[in-house]
Amino acid sequence: MKKERPLYLRSCCANAHIFCREGQRNFGFAKGISGKFFWNCSWAQQRRATSPTKGILASMGDMNNDSQKHGQYLKLVAERKTCSACTGLTNPAACCGGKFDSEHIGPWSRWQSRLDAEVLVVGQDWADVKCFINQQGKSKSGNPTNAALMELLASVGIVIRGPELDDGYAGKVFLTNAILCMKQGGLQAEVREEWFDNCGKRYLGPLIALVKPKAVVCLGERAYRAVEKLYGLHRRPFREAVMVPAKLPADNGTRIYAVYHCGKRIQNTHRKLQQQKEDWARLGEALTGA
Ligand code: SF4
Repeated sequence: MKKERPLYLRSCCANAHIFCREGQRNFGFAKGISGKFFWNCSWAQQRRATSPTKGILASMGDMNNDSQKHGQYLKLVAERKTCSACTGLTNPAACCGGKFDSEHIGPWSRWQSRLDAEVLVVGQDWADVKCFINQQGKSKSGNPTNAALMELLASVGIVIRGPELDDGYAGKVFLTNAILCMKQGGLQAEVREEWFDNCGKRYLGPLIALVKPKAVVCLGERAYRAVEKLYGLHRRPFREAVMVPAKLPADNGTRIYAVYHCGKRIQNTHRKLQQQKEDWARLGEALTGA
């Protein structure tokens, strides 16, 4: 019987695994790869149908590029795990002996973390220590903010599955936070300016440089201010920043989009979801080149 060849192999974001494009299957490098899983996934079938030869070659090119990025990403993750630059925060690696930490830059990235993402979303911070422990370091679909984010991403053509599937790989998007460690005192507890500064220089800036997304979407004003400061952008009223995206200085095209936080509180007080979809539509136009 003729042996099937793998159509699409790539290192995933952080798990040192190889994934088919849809993340339906993953295998450790050391375990050996069976091509049939890649061959059979629907992405592979579609790619074969549209461009049988080019599809394979392009994919192998992706693989080389991805493994370099992947190595750099793992280095950044390792540095984050030992970081203690901020007083008053708990590193995921230092909480409960690290059992709820992951091989990602932060807890939110477990959900979506493609290193070839076109869109990198920056939230303020993930949660407090209590929530991190209760949720075992994972995001949840039932969270209204996550549900709204999925809707907003879908409105610009990025469809992802719920975080409990934890595939990190469905859409071309990377989710991260401006502050990667956990505060104390509840989800609404105050966050310090110095935490944004520390984490921005050490991790957010290098991550954006690594992923090189077309768009950095800052979810809420604090996340936007962190990015604005990180790149020394001219300070503008938040509303103006929402209306007119900025361009990263000395960069080859990444744009910074400020959007309102999509949690229920902001939807009920500042910006309804429908209005937020209109804000996100500017991003959608940039992604499609419309
Ligand atoms: S928030 Fe960032 S900079 Fe601060 S201790 Fe954690 S990883 Fe380090």
